[in-house]
Amino acid sequence: MKLNLTDLGWNDFFEQQFAPYREQGWKPARLIRDNKISYGALLEDGANGFDEFEVILSGKVYHEAETDADLPAVGDWVALEVGGENGDNIIRARLDRQTCFSRRASGLSAEEQVIAANVSTVMVVTEAGPDHSPRRMERYFALISRSGAKAVVLINKADLFEDADNQSAAEELRALNPDADVHVISVKRRKNLKALKPYFRRGETVALIGSSGVGKSALVNLILGEDWQWVDEVNEVTGKGRHTTTARELLVLEKGGILIDNPGIKEVQMWTDETTLRERFADIDQLALQCRFQDCKHGTDAGCAIRAAVEAGTLGADRYEGYLKLEDEIAKLRKQRKKRQMTVERRNKRDHKIKARNRVDRDDLQRELKPRAKEHRSHE
Ligand code: GDP
Ligand code: ZN
Repeated sequence: MKLNLTDLGWNDFFEQQFAPYREQGWKPARLIRDNKISYGALLEDGANGFDEFEVILSGKVYHEAETDADLPAVGDWVALEVGGENGDNIIRARLDRQTCFSRRASGLSAEEQVIAANVSTVMVVTEAGPDHSPRRMERYFALISRSGAKAVVLINKADLFEDADNQSAAEELRALNPDADVHVISVKRRKNLKALKPYFRRGETVALIGSSGVGKSALVNLILGEDWQWVDEVNEVTGKGRHTTTARELLVLEKGGILIDNPGIKEVQMWTDETTLRERFADIDQLALQCRFQDCKHGTDAGCAIRAAVEAGTLGADRYEGYLKLEDEIAKLRKQRKKRQMTVERRNKRDHKIKARNRVDRDDLQRELKPRAKEHRSHE
């Protein structure tokens, strides 16, 4: 099957914006990977339908972005100059987004971090067991609602729990958000998977989120696998194995639908967990403001308001212990996040250096060639 723009999510909304760019001879492309310095993009390529190309940002798009959220992200449609300066494929403009799935960056900054653009449906995978948490789901619903995408909840692992429990979990979540579709499924037993089909329509983009261990990977594998009777056409075209490219973040499915599976999804999960956990201890956080020392560990520190509350019996010892553990858990999450961030930054720096060096080589070569060309003319 040969893919076209519509299979990739192109529609009238984007077409209407594109006329001036088409006049420039630029091509529509969809970003499927974010390498920070460069991007991977799917671009129409005569013979093959679509193929993946490395593309870079033009200085103009970079400088005109007022915040990071304005920069192109996975899922964005862009106007691409193919084979521009130095033979690079250059992003000349980012088209307006139909939807934008994002979160506020961690820390004090109010900066928004885009997880994926132009997502039609965000599916939250959970279960009727220990992962079931209406409070956490409220956070997910808030993010999804702000994004403009459709919210779908998959209560997975139905095989492990009583029917009544699956149904009551579903009812509870439906009551929380009447706009959300809630389905009880079992990836393992292939139960009620047909409920997912309507969301994987031609040109529709789906992102999967949820706590770790709920079965997201199992579901992705199923969707990409033969049981689903969907072939990952784009991977076939580029000749890259399905399981070897962890970097690909947007997958086009031949039987219709586009799946987004990127690292940002995991960030959303951690952020949601952290915020939800914190909220549960908001009253204790309030108490902590009254501790004598700002860096009070609430252990044996003098003047600790939290310990004082435990001793006075106004704060239960179990909640106090939960709170202490919470800080550890959050610290651990942050450390992991930081480590990953540093790895990414190191890699980017290295890539950047390589790019800069290549550019210098090219400039040197041009400097060498230019005087000679001049010399040549002066002899005439
Ligand atoms: P992820 O962290 O969300 O990607 O979760 P995984 O896909 O790695 O699944 C975690 C575990 O749950 C694996 O051992 C899966 O085999 C199992 N699992 C996934 N779906 C189901 C299901 O429907 N029923 C049962 N019993 N186990 C499941
Ligand atoms: Zn304290």
